[in-house]
Amino acid sequence: MSANNLRFPPPRLPDEVAELRAELRAFLAESSAAEPWLPNSDFGAGFSPEFSRKIADKGWIGMTWPKHYGGGERSHLERYVVTEELLAAGAPVFAHWIADRQSGPLLLRFGSQSQRAELLPRIAAGECFFSIGMSEPDSGSDLASVRTRAERTAHGWRLNGAKVWTSNAHLNHYMITLCRTGDAGEDRHGGLSQFLIDLRQDGVTINPIVNMLGAHEFNEVVFDNVEIPLDRLIGQEGEGWRQVTSELAYERSGPERFLSNFHIFQALVDEIGPAPDARQAEALGRLTARLWTLRRMSLSVAAMLQAGESPDVEAAIVKELGNKFEREVVETARAVLPVQPTITAGGNSADFPAMLAEALLRLPSFTLRGGTTEIMRSIIARGLGLR
Ligand SMILES: Cc1cc2nc3c(=O)[nH]c(=O)nc-3n(C[C@H](O)[C@H](O)[C@H](O)COP(=O)(O)OP(=O)(O)OC[C@H]3O[C@@H](n4cnc5c(N)ncnc54)[C@H](O)[C@@H]3O)c2cc1C
Repeated sequence: MSANNLRFPPPRLPDEVAELRAELRAFLAESSAAEPWLPNSDFGAGFSPEFSRKIADKGWIGMTWPKHYGGGERSHLERYVVTEELLAAGAPVFAHWIADRQSGPLLLRFGSQSQRAELLPRIAAGECFFSIGMSEPDSGSDLASVRTRAERTAHGWRLNGAKVWTSNAHLNHYMITLCRTGDAGEDRHGGLSQFLIDLRQDGVTINPIVNMLGAHEFNEVVFDNVEIPLDRLIGQEGEGWRQVTSELAYERSGPERFLSNFHIFQALVDEIGPAPDARQAEALGRLTARLWTLRRMSLSVAAMLQAGESPDVEAAIVKELGNKFEREVVETARAVLPVQPTITAGGNSADFPAMLAEALLRLPSFTLRGGTTEIMRSIIARGLGLR
């Protein structure tokens, strides 16, 4: 690809999307009236197995998967509508999010027949939640340098090492872990494999890591001689790099990369009210234009996925610009309103100063999770033939 043929074709939403969107909005209004939730600045903070099961009952998990695996055989664009409505409403979706977004699709693509038959229907039913086991204490951006290692035994594999920043490992059922099973080879990407790990099995220790808000959302996960049965290898031994990079494309392309602070944007519009001064009007206009453009770009990526393409560079652009927008929303609020961010207990409140404080404490994490700004820019530069 070069800069000349980079393109974001304008998305065409299918007609059935309008009906689906209306159904979602009615469902969300009813659910939040019955059991209200407080939107916060990280979709990853709202973990509710009960809510995920309700989503599953509506057929909104595994929407694009084959019906015989519990899926809905619907389009990526329909799935996009579901994800953006859930995120815009700040619904507590994280229990099923990773499994729906990337673990399920990974299993569908590379998993064995028995892995798919065992796990996909449970994921689609909202019964089975997954963690991502990529980062390690000394391997984040440079993922190929992971040191967690699985050795062959008479009956399977034995795993030793540690993963870090593992979101919700203390609440989820499984982790898909990337580890070393052989030599790296010349390009450093060889000798990596992925395994399905039961997070409650012997030898797995989950140590909490408390974030800046004082919340326990991610963990260190230590593997001490963890026995892995043969049938828990995902895909091919030594093909882990190819598999994990396809997983990352799912992780980077969704609306969660620019909607983290959507509730702040909405609250900002409410706080400013119907008679903005010139500066406030200009600021709201600029944010709205950015949000609309990002949404079209992100939808375009969903349409390319639907067409079977691999829009990795486009997804990286959306993530990089989306993370920038998320920061700009908070900075704009502080610039155009006389508001002092104020921390409240629990870091989550419907009160505007408290919302801003919570967002400020979460902001640094947005450009880290799913790949840092520098890594996104280097993917974009390489993709455009600039380096
Ligand atoms: C909220 C949150 C949730 C997360 N959840 C998970 C999870 O569930 N599972 C999981 O596996 N990981 C998770 N992560 C980890 C995340 O993927 C890593 O933090 C990220 O990949 C960066 O790795 P690192 O922290 O080791 O930083 P490093 O890779 O050490 O980077 C440090 C700094 O150096 C820069 N840098 C590194 N290499 C280069 C380079 N080649 N060129 C230019 N600059 C460079 C980076 O951009 C960054 O600014 C989570 C992170 C956060 C914040």
